[in-house]
Amino acid sequence: MAASPSSAHKPHIAIFPFMSKGHTIPLLHLAHLLHHRHLASVITIFTTPLNSPFIRNFLSGVEPDIIELSFPGDFSDDLPPNIESTDCLPSMLLFLPFIQAVKKLQPQFELALKNLPTINLLISDGFLGWAVDSSAKFGIPRMAFYGMGNFATTISRIVSINKPHKHVSSYDDPFTVTPFPHLKLTKADLSPPFDDPDSKGPLHDFVMEQGIATMQSHGIIINSFSELDEIYLDYWNKNIGPKSWYVGPLCVMAAKHKIRLESTEHHQLACMQWLDARSLSNRQVLYVAFGSQANVAPAQLREIAVALEKSELDFLWVIKGDYYDDVIFGDFEEKVKDRGMVVHKWVDQMEILSHESVKGFMSHCGWNSVMESVVAGVPILAWPMLAEQPLNAKFVVEEMKIGLRIRTRGKDIENEELVGRDHIEEMVRELMVGEGGKEVARNMKVLSEKARVAMEYGGSSWTSLETLVSQVSSINT
Ligand code: UDP
Repeated sequence: MAASPSSAHKPHIAIFPFMSKGHTIPLLHLAHLLHHRHLASVITIFTTPLNSPFIRNFLSGVEPDIIELSFPGDFSDDLPPNIESTDCLPSMLLFLPFIQAVKKLQPQFELALKNLPTINLLISDGFLGWAVDSSAKFGIPRMAFYGMGNFATTISRIVSINKPHKHVSSYDDPFTVTPFPHLKLTKADLSPPFDDPDSKGPLHDFVMEQGIATMQSHGIIINSFSELDEIYLDYWNKNIGPKSWYVGPLCVMAAKHKIRLESTEHHQLACMQWLDARSLSNRQVLYVAFGSQANVAPAQLREIAVALEKSELDFLWVIKGDYYDDVIFGDFEEKVKDRGMVVHKWVDQMEILSHESVKGFMSHCGWNSVMESVVAGVPILAWPMLAEQPLNAKFVVEEMKIGLRIRTRGKDIENEELVGRDHIEEMVRELMVGEGGKEVARNMKVLSEKARVAMEYGGSSWTSLETLVSQVSSINT
């Protein structure tokens, strides 16, 4: 095991999360972890004014230096006002204008780097590739944080370089990816720009730019653990690089130390009391949530509602934003009131998943949700919606066998055909009471234990973080 950096050599670590909850939360867990393990002398977090309250709330007890970078007045003509997070975008079509606007923070960021006491390591999100140029100007090593798993990262990189789907015409025809012959992919497993071998345009350019910035970085930090997908980690480190460090699952911090997200107390308490009541009567609950980004079409929500109603199972369903109205749902809530709870606000997902009555998770397979499910030991009903989620779903279902799959074509949810109520009902029942569900639940239990061990003293992720910090300390303190 690597030696802990001595207090004289503890580094000043700066963290710059991308502005979305899914990208920010794991980095805040990392800040907690660095603090809890006394691995840094100072932790500085860069953020914007509207994201600051969430971060301050999340990091209470850590007391980092928080530097707020304000968007210039002409943030972006293409975006509605006061949007400082992709969670608030009315459509993911505005993702690229948002990314362009975020680049405008660079001059302020560099001014802050100039004025701050020496920073020994910058950890910035993989979407903030420009930070590598800024940090290079000040001689600061930059590590890219990838909020996604290494399976999706590695496969996406191989596909974009080797283009194994170059001569595949149909969306559903399988092809293999060298050097993983066991793996059969289809274009439906890939999202734009990776699904199109001839892809061009701004999204393609953005992805390529971030890839180049990562190559110029000191390394990559990944929210995963080596017992999960070592073959992909090894492949990445030997053939692609720069070196990837596994330091997760970072949500173990939340599970262990009861880190509360935002002021969700009132309705969170209602959820927890409702779950408590379920476990008193030995009821098993399906948790349904699709993360902070995907906007599920109203007609699709209706199909889910009917399926849950027909399934006769207990469920807790978190619906993002304002996508709920009586026209879509009718008297749904009244009909299911004895066994279903619908929440329209931000909840503490990790706490819900950790409740003993939660036995299944219908999830979009955002990587944080996958890691949280693994830590809580809850099997997944995978329903990927966008970005790398179809690859995450493939990994969950086919590689790790810790979940079942809702049948979709894997395209952006905003353009996708509806998944019908009968199929949803069938799969929900299979996960919660079927033989397939029992098998994946057993596999999940074993993996969950491995995740716990990885994060404990001497475990793989524990050691990896310690080695990484020691190495950085020896470079430049
Ligand atoms: N989350 C939460 N409460 C909510 C919605 C989301 O705590 O009501 C958290 C969830 O636990 C996870 C993150 O937000 O940590 C979402 O990240 P993920 O990668 O799962 O999906 P994304 O939102 O990026 O699509």
